[in-house]
Amino acid sequence: MSRRLYVFGTGHAMVTRLYNSCFGLEEGGWFFFLDAGGGNGILQAMEAMDVSAARVRGMFLTHTHTDHILGGIWVVRAVGHAILAGEYQGDFCVWGHRELIGAFRQICMAVLAPDILAQLDGRIRLLEVSDGQTCATPFGPTTFFDTGCALVRQFGCAIRAPDGARMAYLGDEPIHPQVYPYVQGCGWLIADALCLEAERQIHHPEHSFHSSVKETCQRAEELGVQRLILCHTEDTHGPLRKALYTREGQKYFHGTLLVPDDREILSLQ
Ligand SMILES: [Zn+2]
Ligand SMILES: [Zn+2]
Repeated sequence: MSRRLYVFGTGHAMVTRLYNSCFGLEEGGWFFFLDAGGGNGILQAMEAMDVSAARVRGMFLTHTHTDHILGGIWVVRAVGHAILAGEYQGDFCVWGHRELIGAFRQICMAVLAPDILAQLDGRIRLLEVSDGQTCATPFGPTTFFDTGCALVRQFGCAIRAPDGARMAYLGDEPIHPQVYPYVQGCGWLIADALCLEAERQIHHPEHSFHSSVKETCQRAEELGVQRLILCHTEDTHGPLRKALYTREGQKYFHGTLLVPDDREILSLQ
């Protein structure tokens, strides 16, 4: 069965010409979201890409920064409406580490309507995961792990599909040594690359604990990653970003390098 990655957004927190980084893993018409971006733009992206809330089986949120967690509130709201309308089958699960789930629950309680909140801990389940824990998610056994973020606790995930394919997602965190076991030799890696190395003096990725294209590509090459998807970028290059990032990245990474645009669909075969 074909497996695809819906790229809802590719931008970092403060971009205005892209949506924030978030993805939907799709197989057989069902979706597992990896982060949700920072707001209601997730609903626009879902509609534009023909993804109804009724087809979203679960969501993993990496950390509590605005550009990753707040879109998740809108996803819960949309799924809640689908449940109330009788359009949603089964339970909707949100995975995250303890602090994230605590914060997510508080935001939900503050901003969502009673009919949606009535489904929390019923058909909408908020599931805490610990570092190194493996859970069954819609795409197979998924191991959640601490990415070593210095600013806030952040988890990534490594998914092993039934056919053995391995994918890792690191939120917006550089590839630190503690995640090497999850990233080494993986088939697909989704990773942060805030800007070109050549524009380090403009965007200062080190100030926000992010990476340049060169840094992420070098590390992925060292770790034997097969296919690398760059995201969480600045937005000053418009339609030229793909070519510019690809050109810099291919000097350092010799597997398949992908720099998707917002709303692109990638085949994961
Ligand atoms: Zn962040
Ligand atoms: Zn971010």
